[in-house]
Amino acid sequence: MDVADAGYVLERKVFDRTLTEMAGNEGADIIVKARATNVTKDNKGSVNGITFRYAGRDYTSKAKVVIAADGIESKVGRWAGIDTTHDLRDIDVCAQYLISKIDIEPEYCDFYVGREIAPRGYIWVFPKGPDIANVGVGIGGTVSGKGGKLAIDYLNEFVKRKFPEGKILGQVVGAVPVGDSLPQLVADGILIIGDAAHHSDPISGGGIANAMYSGMFAAETAVDCLNKGDVSAQALKVYEERWDKEVGKHFKRVCRIRDEALKFSDEMFDRCAAVLNRMPPEKVNMPTIFKTVLKHQPRLLLELRHLILAGWV
Ligand SMILES: Cc1cc2nc3c(=O)[nH]c(=O)nc-3n(C[C@H](O)[C@H](O)[C@H](O)COP(=O)(O)OP(=O)(O)OC[C@H]3O[C@@H](n4cnc5c(N)ncnc54)[C@H](O)[C@@H]3O)c2cc1C
Repeated sequence: MDVADAGYVLERKVFDRTLTEMAGNEGADIIVKARATNVTKDNKGSVNGITFRYAGRDYTSKAKVVIAADGIESKVGRWAGIDTTHDLRDIDVCAQYLISKIDIEPEYCDFYVGREIAPRGYIWVFPKGPDIANVGVGIGGTVSGKGGKLAIDYLNEFVKRKFPEGKILGQVVGAVPVGDSLPQLVADGILIIGDAAHHSDPISGGGIANAMYSGMFAAETAVDCLNKGDVSAQALKVYEERWDKEVGKHFKRVCRIRDEALKFSDEMFDRCAAVLNRMPPEKVNMPTIFKTVLKHQPRLLLELRHLILAGWV
């Protein structure tokens, strides 16, 4: 299905390096291979820097404001007194291979859903060239390990069946937040962004775009607050409000829709896909889905009512 502006496939290593280079060009000091070990606070408890370990030595870096971007296992927020822990139900566990010498359609991203192949998640094939793709699986945190099966086992089964001749060139494993956004995103002297703030999309688990939005909102708020000379939690809350207004407010609805869709059987998903297949891709929107379902599968509407009540339309 061709959907204009549906998204982009990027080379993550090149993308991250380019962003770092851009930051450096704008005057940022970059320290690689350094591990943050704690935050420092002033005598009123406001965050005013971090401590870090680099090349076997400990250092302290003072800052007027700290932005925590340390991913799903974020500790920086916790050191500042914000609870960043995840409920196991609110994460997906992922495994991904970069595989070459495979037969794919390089213009399309493929998604596979089904309780047998990826319980409470999905499999993706994201092309990186004519015969090379990122092939990955995400499964629910509470499902992982059940029956002795981990995400990598589901991935291996899929790859063996679908791409038996493929050559595995790389592997990534990790988890993504798929719950609601963290309610508290700021404390005195600190803001939290990206996966550390649970900002990945609750359905797709995709978090790159949202991490960039929250990074931008947080940076703009920090600059404003620095200019006004006030980096208290009260002043930094502008970031929290902007995130919620522009992106975060959709998370609760999306979580509800996701939870309803998760009750579907594989057979139900097949019927939904059959309906979507009847539509010209450029006409896939809510009113047309409604009309097509009504015409070809009126009973499906009855079954989809929970999604509609959850705020789908
Ligand atoms: C297998 C897999 C595939 C994915 N595919 C996609 C996809 O196709 N599209 C998409 O949009 N999203 C995808 N995601 C999700 C995406 O990777 C994240 O949402 C995104 O990277 C979040 O960006 P971030 O900067 O918040 O965190 P991260 O990218 O996790 O960056 C956090 C950084 O902080 C560093 N760090 C952590 N602790 C410390 C410390 N104490 N000191 C110093 N540094 C520290 C980490 O090493 C890391 O470099 C995928 C995730 C996984 C696991």
